Amino acid sequence: MGKFAKYEIDLKALQPGAVVAYDYELDNAFFEAIDSAEVQRGNVKVRLVVKKTAGAFELDFQTDGTVIVPCDRCLDDMEQPVTSRDQLMVKFGEEYGEVDDLIIVPEEEGTINVAWLMFEFVVLAIPMKHVHAPGRCNKEMTRKLNAHLSTTADDEDDTDVDEELDDDAERPIDPRWNELKKIIDNN
Ligand SMILES: [Zn+2]
Repeated sequence: MGKFAKYEIDLKALQPGAVVAYDYELDNAFFEAIDSAEVQRGNVKVRLVVKKTAGAFELDFQTDGTVIVPCDRCLDDMEQPVTSRDQLMVKFGEEYGEVDDLIIVPEEEGTINVAWLMFEFVVLAIPMKHVHAPGRCNKEMTRKLNAHLSTTADDEDDTDVDEELDDDAERPIDPRWNELKKIIDNN
């Protein structure tokens, strides 16, 4: 049995009209087993409802939980809530295939493994931009990034991050101003 055996759904065994619910908990071990850089830790609950209709299966995934991902601003780990509702249709056919929200599985096998599907739904539920709540970023890292940006931002490429850093009350004073202040004070 592979490490994802428990995510294998035996569609062939379902009677017409059957509605079956499956509950999964995607924990750190799950994300480690998936072995993707996108999400390495988390705790996500998925309720999958499989409905057998005429000639097809409707799969309805409700995903709720949190994943640990690096903050876009300070790169420290942060908890990102994820919630998603996803629906797929599965039909039997000659060989594996995927068209939009329709998945074809070989009728001989009659099963579908939902581990990777659930992982994809989790990844898609992570917002493009994910940062700590205000004031929760790693101050040390924020300062280093700020210092780095002030020496490389001449081309105005990094205005987005600069604006973020402006919110930080502990933003350090540009050392060049300190030098200037000394000159002024000495006169
Ligand atoms: Zn942060």
